[in-house]
Amino acid sequence: MIVAEGITKSFGNLQVLKGINLTINQGEVVSIVGPSGAGKTTLLQILGTLDKPDGGRLLINDTDVLHLSEQKLSAFRNRNIGFVFQFHQLLPEFTALENVMIPALIAKEKASAAEKRAKEILSFLKLSDRMTHKPAELSGGEKQRVAVARALINHPQVILADEPSGSLDTRNKEELHALFFELRDQMNQTFVIVTHDEQLAAQTDRTIHIRDGVVSEEAEQKN
Ligand code: ADP
Repeated sequence: MIVAEGITKSFGNLQVLKGINLTINQGEVVSIVGPSGAGKTTLLQILGTLDKPDGGRLLINDTDVLHLSEQKLSAFRNRNIGFVFQFHQLLPEFTALENVMIPALIAKEKASAAEKRAKEILSFLKLSDRMTHKPAELSGGEKQRVAVARALINHPQVILADEPSGSLDTRNKEELHALFFELRDQMNQTFVIVTHDEQLAAQTDRTIHIRDGVVSEEAEQKN
């Protein structure tokens, strides 16, 4: 589903990515690990089409995303890629339900249909009784689950998560990780997760190690 070939990226004189090759298959939960500063976030931003590499090829669901116009790319991203960040990045003035609906509204979906699906997803994520709460009224774990609901609303091909449990305590962390695997098992949802959490990395279907700007090794497929 995602094929990256020879991805390079520099910031000034610093070449962060020196030719990354990787493939992500549908229904996999893949972790990306590596030392701090290795370029994991930079790579995730590129896979998410939020940043452009200097060179290489990137196919997402057979679309050559590096050659789309800005306008087409933004529609493609909104439809096909869900994002979960370390800090929820929910809009504070909107309720949980409204936050989840936003990507669907951007995709020009009817508000009634968007609301129906947002409610279904929030219910699946056991957040039905939190729908009318604003982010400030939610716990850390709930905010991250709402962020996952928002990432799911457009049925994305892939959800990219950057240290999604980095700000959570152990119990909420484990609950969030369990949710990722539940979504894989029940919806065949694909995830690519940048993480420092060794326990999570050990649970994922595959771990991609980034070191010195390249994929240094890939653990054996576990499943
Ligand atoms: P990781 O996620 O593995 O910790 P990052 O991708 O965040 O690594 O960063 C890799 C390197 O690129 C770091 O040295 C960082 O300082 C640098 N870097 C990342 N983004 C930028 C940017 N926008 N401008 C300049 N340097 C950057």
